[in-house]
Amino acid sequence: MQKIAIQSSIRNCSFIGGEWIGSGTSFEVINPVDKSVVAKVNEVQAEQVIQAINAAHTAQASWKRLSAIQRAKYIDSWQRLIRQNVKDLSRLLTLEQGKPVAESETEILHAADYTQLYGQLAESFSKTQTIDAPQGQQASVTRRPVGVVSAITPWNFPCSMVMRKAAAAIAAGCCVVLKPSELTPLTSLALAALAQQAGLPEGVFNVVVGSNAQAIGELLTQNPKVAKLSFTGSTHVGKKLLAQCALGVTRAAMELGGNAPFIVFEDADLDEAVEGAMASKFRNAGQTCVSANRFIVHQSILPQFQQKLIERIDQLVVGNGLDSATTIGPLINQSAIDKLDRLIEASIDLGARMSFRASIGTFAGNFYAPMVLENVTPNMPIFQSEIFGPVVSITSFDSEAQAIELANQTDMGLCGYFYSEDIERQKRLTESLEFGMLGVNQARLSNPAAPFGGFKQSGMGREGGCFGIEEYLDFQYITRPCSQ
Ligand code: ADP
Repeated sequence: MQKIAIQSSIRNCSFIGGEWIGSGTSFEVINPVDKSVVAKVNEVQAEQVIQAINAAHTAQASWKRLSAIQRAKYIDSWQRLIRQNVKDLSRLLTLEQGKPVAESETEILHAADYTQLYGQLAESFSKTQTIDAPQGQQASVTRRPVGVVSAITPWNFPCSMVMRKAAAAIAAGCCVVLKPSELTPLTSLALAALAQQAGLPEGVFNVVVGSNAQAIGELLTQNPKVAKLSFTGSTHVGKKLLAQCALGVTRAAMELGGNAPFIVFEDADLDEAVEGAMASKFRNAGQTCVSANRFIVHQSILPQFQQKLIERIDQLVVGNGLDSATTIGPLINQSAIDKLDRLIEASIDLGARMSFRASIGTFAGNFYAPMVLENVTPNMPIFQSEIFGPVVSITSFDSEAQAIELANQTDMGLCGYFYSEDIERQKRLTESLEFGMLGVNQARLSNPAAPFGGFKQSGMGREGGCFGIEEYLDFQYITRPCSQ
């Protein structure tokens, strides 16, 4: 029954100019739980990507002229439909991505919250501001939509990553061409179907799906009709896309990798720290850019912290995300497993020690047994790289200064966490840590109103709340003589 409901909601063509457009070739979407084929999806052709950009460009002319309140009505209908369909959408998301269905549901509702908020905020950006001017002149500043936006999104949050770009851009008056990850295109296509049902004018939201990411990416960054690229993904691909954008001075927002420290001081509430560690490390099997990546733990409490953490890890239920008992699903694919294995082996060769590995039985899919590694030092790849898996990597410290130095020892600056009950220390740490987002005695960062994004090579630009809409607006300064 469940399967039939999901199958009927699967779309397998690109959504361009309000139409579902197929091609003669297809690629497979694989369920990471058992490697079965969830769907065969039509490969978008180069000329169809151009068609999508043209459709967005044509729609842009009238979409930007609507009042913000009119745009907000469409956006509101869209977010209502997302909420109404949360059950089907979350099962679909779990089928292609693998995370527990409860997490999928949270993600979808979170995406709906973003969408709702952007609709509500659009009007506040439509006001013209009068500014100071030389004598005899009057001057004002208005906010103008940047134009057509291309969005490229990853597979780890197939719904929220899409909506926090698309809804912000569309609320600001921009039309969008989205390229979701080829590993998880089905959620984006379902969102397009709901946009269509919500009555969004044709061309406002387009989705192109294909497995040739590089070729599609070139078309989406180098077409003069594209004004801005919004990308979420790896730093490596982000750098390539930035270089492509440079050719036409196409604006770019980049949400790239993280390497989050999770510092536990000797004065921390250990139970809370363990609670936070579990939420931050094991959500989506550790495949998030805000996952705790480097546990930096005071040596005096390391044994207790580890013991409490291992007790909790042992209770995780590894399995099919569609089973309600499951608390941790598979990794996305075999290459994610291989990458993680390499990272661990190289770090063990340099002296890291595996202090715990959960036993999870045998599965056909891409499952990875949760693990704890201790004795990790900054020269090890596991300290330097984004782990993207259910592996706790622990480094110990013995002074606050050392903890700060270890935490900042990365090119990434997306987010960090620390646990300490000392108010003065909290102040010192928030000033010293070089991360765009900080959780203090708190590991859940999600908040649609917050500016999501990072320092250093973690990217540029922010998503969320008024900061997210700003990304899709340009200033226009207008001056004229007072008499006119
Ligand atoms: P991840 O490692 O999380 O999969 P990627 O950066 O590889 O991150 O992928 C994020 C998004 O970027 C996906 O939609 C993927 O298809 C796309 N992508 C990957 N390589 C390229 C590329 N060379 N040009 C444009 N997009 C790309």
